[in-house]
Amino acid sequence: MPLYEYRCNECGDEFEKRVSFSESDRIPACPKCESQNTQKKLSRVISLGTLSSGTVSSSSSSCGSRGGFS
Ligand SMILES: [Zn+2]
Repeated sequence: MPLYEYRCNECGDEFEKRVSFSESDRIPACPKCESQNTQKKLSRVISLGTLSSGTVSSSSSSCGSRGGFS
């Protein structure tokens, strides 16, 4: 199962949630304040990639094959 990152717009908490493909469009509630005003973050691999720190591949081994299933 893919691991998505979400950010709560209410309390600013960031959390990760493992969801199946059938649930990938569902927005989970914030684990802290239980608000559903959360949004899926774009992959942090993109922001880390700009730093070229060399630790990118550890969190994402999908090799750019995301979105291939529907
Ligand atoms: Zn929250």
